[in-house]
Amino acid sequence: MCDFHPIPELQKHGSFLENVVDILFKNVVFTTNLSKVVLWKHPEDLKKTFDFSLDQHGTSHEKLLALIKNTIKFSVKTGHLYFINQLFSGLDPYGLAGQWLTDALNASMYTYEVAPVFTLMETTVIQEVCRMVGPDWQDGMFCPGGSMANGIAIHLARFKYNKSIKHCGASGMPRLVMFTSEESHYSTHKFAAFLGIGEDNVIGVKTDDVGRIIPEDLERTIAEEQEKGGVPFMVVATMGTTVRGAFDPVEDIFVICRRHGLWLHVDAAWGGGLIFSQKHRSKLNGIERANSIVINPHKLLAVPQQCSLLLLKDKAILKQCHSKGAEYLFQKDKYYDQSYDPGDKHLQCGRKCDVFKFWLMWKAKGSSGLARHVDAILETAEYFESQIEARPDYLLVSRRQFINVCFWYMPRYLQGKTDAVKECGEQLHKVAPQIKAVMVKHGSVMIGYQPLKEFPNFFRFVSQNSALSFKDVDFILDHISEIGRAIFQ
Ligand SMILES: *Cc1c(COP(=O)(O)O)cnc(C)c1O
Repeated sequence: MCDFHPIPELQKHGSFLENVVDILFKNVVFTTNLSKVVLWKHPEDLKKTFDFSLDQHGTSHEKLLALIKNTIKFSVKTGHLYFINQLFSGLDPYGLAGQWLTDALNASMYTYEVAPVFTLMETTVIQEVCRMVGPDWQDGMFCPGGSMANGIAIHLARFKYNKSIKHCGASGMPRLVMFTSEESHYSTHKFAAFLGIGEDNVIGVKTDDVGRIIPEDLERTIAEEQEKGGVPFMVVATMGTTVRGAFDPVEDIFVICRRHGLWLHVDAAWGGGLIFSQKHRSKLNGIERANSIVINPHKLLAVPQQCSLLLLKDKAILKQCHSKGAEYLFQKDKYYDQSYDPGDKHLQCGRKCDVFKFWLMWKAKGSSGLARHVDAILETAEYFESQIEARPDYLLVSRRQFINVCFWYMPRYLQGKTDAVKECGEQLHKVAPQIKAVMVKHGSVMIGYQPLKEFPNFFRFVSQNSALSFKDVDFILDHISEIGRAIFQ
């Protein structure tokens, strides 16, 4: 008999995988506060420390396991409580289990034939989220990230403006222009460039003191562009801006869009998870007015990366705009109803299964569990803000609207000084990067900073980890103060 996998081989690979899982459990899944977020090395040092080399001969399991341990050792532990550097964090056990399962099955999401459970599951989840948005919501798709989802929304909006573009291309079209807040996510500009609309035709609309679009300025810029011969076709509003967590006034923006016949896209990549919370859902009021919405479950809801949803009101448009009907994959004479194959409404061919980890987390916790998660992290943010206001060495950049708390650490010589931010902006600009560098070298806390508009560099606190307690908040702020005092005194 010809055995394709001789038993000893299977046993060897089995024990290898068991060892790997064991290493992951001990070094990634169950880490504590006491372990470091990162073991920092400069790139040149890491190149010398880590064996990146590839060669002609294979490597023994023993050496591979050592390399795996080293990979973990020098990687950032994004599940650590004190990783608050990006808009994702935490390590959800159900999410991880989901991710492991789909990786083990290595499914691809084009047809019911190769992914029967996952394609039906995808439809269920999309329909359920649509139902939560409003009665007019019909369809959607999982995308490899919010940036890509925003890009597809732009693509659909342009297709809606002129359907002939699918077959005839964009040449000969007038100069199309779109509008978004000056604090919106940069993916809008990237994809406008990618689609041949051009970055300069994404017009930045002014924001108010907390970072929301000023509707009058949207009106003004639309008129201005029309005068210059541009043809407006779309507005991208944001619910939960990346830095300040601002919510654009979507109701007002909708009225303007309706008057001018513009597609309204709501980028709720960051804020969209609020849809689960009865307590905070009202922040999303007006979202149902949009033509398309992006929600990233991999952000607020702490689903492992990537998990991003683009939702549509128009049931037919995805298929109209994207389908090609490749007959080697979507055969017309299939042995089951072809409408069960979701693949042709996507731009990708092979596609990872992002739905399962989300579905499993939702199933495990229920909608009420996801709501509790959202409410808990908002409470932590509220406490964080109150601490910034209570401590003399901190200053709030602008009022908190969501989870993002934007703040400066103020060295003693700037404390209590009126107009310190304006007058000593240059000095203040250097404070956050220096403190961050010390923290990363300690491996203690990772927290992001950035400048914005006229504001010098400031820290941004964001945590999607509902295990982060008030005590942890105190620790983080004490820690920043301690480093600040050491550097600036
Ligand atoms: C994070 C973010 C995005 C991009 O999402 P990715 O999944 O990181 O590509 C888009 N818009 C907003 C408002 C975001 O915060």
